[in-house]
Amino acid sequence: MCDINRKKSENLCGIYVHIPFCKAKCRYCDFTSYPGKIGYAEAYMACVYKEMKLRAGELAGRRFGSVYFGGGTPSAIDAKLIAGAVRQIRKLYDLAPDAEITVELNPESVTAEKLAVYKSVGVNRFSMGMQAASDALLEELGRIHTVAGFRKAAALLRGEKFNADIMIGLKGQTLADIKAAVELAAESGAKHVSMYALTPEDGTPMYSDYLNGDLPDGDEVAEQYEHGRKLLAAHGYRRYEVSNFAQPGFESRHNRNYWRRGEYIGFGVAASSFMAGRRFTNTRDLDDYIKCILSDHYPVVDDEKIGEQDAKFERVMLALRTAEGLDLAAYRSEFGTEFEEDFAAPFKKNARYLEKTDEGTLRIKEEYLFVQNRILVDFLQ
Ligand code: SF4
Repeated sequence: MCDINRKKSENLCGIYVHIPFCKAKCRYCDFTSYPGKIGYAEAYMACVYKEMKLRAGELAGRRFGSVYFGGGTPSAIDAKLIAGAVRQIRKLYDLAPDAEITVELNPESVTAEKLAVYKSVGVNRFSMGMQAASDALLEELGRIHTVAGFRKAAALLRGEKFNADIMIGLKGQTLADIKAAVELAAESGAKHVSMYALTPEDGTPMYSDYLNGDLPDGDEVAEQYEHGRKLLAAHGYRRYEVSNFAQPGFESRHNRNYWRRGEYIGFGVAASSFMAGRRFTNTRDLDDYIKCILSDHYPVVDDEKIGEQDAKFERVMLALRTAEGLDLAAYRSEFGTEFEEDFAAPFKKNARYLEKTDEGTLRIKEEYLFVQNRILVDFLQ
């Protein structure tokens, strides 16, 4: 179930832990994060530890290959609370000895002491929200860090495996800004870069910029992306998913598991899971989450059994986001049917954007990967 594109021995599941606290809300942010509630962190993490315990029985027998602390801003809370969560996972779950354990960091809250605490429990990967190499753009985004702050945090991470996030599609952003961001990530020693286009979400302050026509249009963003992709390639970052680039051997195991439709369990407010053919999501309300856990109930608000048609679409959609593409033999062995028959019409319609490799995989041609959404919509029958 975890991953049909991998050998059975590599068939590991993921664990996601959501830390919903930030010091301030960024102007584009639609994630579940509660600025001003960091005082709840200890009580919240006690609930997360308890949720891990509640789920342990049903997940016995599964082996986990990655843990990811995302948010929110995991580095905003006491590092000992993250360390406690790693210890709890090791105690309750079968975590592979070489598991990838990632903590997301905001440059503003990184300290040598925090990094030492994370590393003492086996955290071996970090992901830092760099976003841009211009203080004016960072301010526009409502980020609380500066370029100098990023440089300082990156210096503390020298020699560590870490990702730097870059955003494109920003108001007033130029191609020169994108070049500066890629160069800053590279010279800081990031082994992995995630380059995302801003999605203006309804209800965020940034959405009014979108409505006012202040943000770059689709063609401009595509040009920015292509510019960034070429620069990243020149710095040795290979694209392995539409928004993710890594130096060879530094791809994110945790994210690969998502794109390979592997199983994962999510703990904490708003966390999603995919287990035993079901997708389920915890409440986004912090108080409800705490109340549920304290009364020994799962805080799940959506729970859906994925039918075969949806499973096939998910498999195709996730695989075609990646550079490796869809393993056609693996598809056949998972579903007992042929991809080209199941998706005959959209396959034919989009044939010019797709290519088959000698290894028996189907993928979107390199030059069309950024517009994969326009192609994949046809496969959603
Ligand atoms: S740091 Fe991340 S989660 Fe927190 S407000 Fe900014 S974008 Fe949202």
